[in-house]
Amino acid sequence: MLGLILFWRLIVHVLLLNCFYSCEDFHVLCLYVQDRMMMELHKQGTTTEEIAECLKRAPLHPRIIAAIKSAHALGCDLKVVSDANMFFIETILKHHGLIGYFSEINTNPSFIDEVGKLRISPYQDFTLSPHGCDLCPPNMCKGLVIERMKASTEGINRFIYLGDGKGDFCPSLKLREGDYMMPRKNYPVWELICNNPMSIKAEIHEWSDGEELERILLHLINTIIYEDEEMSNFDAFISTDCKFESVPFSPYKRFPRALPVPH
Ligand SMILES: [Zn+2]
Repeated sequence: MLGLILFWRLIVHVLLLNCFYSCEDFHVLCLYVQDRMMMELHKQGTTTEEIAECLKRAPLHPRIIAAIKSAHALGCDLKVVSDANMFFIETILKHHGLIGYFSEINTNPSFIDEVGKLRISPYQDFTLSPHGCDLCPPNMCKGLVIERMKASTEGINRFIYLGDGKGDFCPSLKLREGDYMMPRKNYPVWELICNNPMSIKAEIHEWSDGEELERILLHLINTIIYEDEEMSNFDAFISTDCKFESVPFSPYKRFPRALPVPH
């Protein structure tokens, strides 16, 4: 039962793309350029199979693979939020045997058109419904994705967010106290956080390489598990101490939140 609770309480968001690529060109390309590049490659006779083979050759640090598997084994719900595209992410995750470890991939959709070109379309159709966030590119506000995740598991999850790009600053602002932000050191989101440290409510833990990522991530997950067990023990203590009362007790109940003050 406890494992099930932890599963729902811990949501580790992993921005994978920069971890996967030795060449980070694709990561910094905006959606338009990604799509144009795919068209150019097609014109030059490059097939989608060849693009996939190229993606598979990019090395992935073994400690990152191990960290993902360990986080999953510890009960975390792993999700991807990326401004790359579905073809790239699925190809890489499948190649490394990691696709089954993630419950959600939020990214720009991709498809192969009638002449075999890989096409990339926006995660959010900005011509029909702009997201209105000045911090993010028009095709995707990662902050909105995080808000949707928070709303769907209201009050029972804690986030560990790993990121590196400029687009990871907006979701960093959506994290709450009790959450963790893991920016990659010397990358754009790290610099933005260093310049605006007071704007982040989450605890910040920087990392530089696969070993450090694994060590810090697992430490944070174990900290959350420990705190959760402490809270469960405290709840059990309160339950035992108050057993003479007729109020029904839920082992998962927390202290009530402060009620809003009527205006
Ligand atoms: Zn945003």
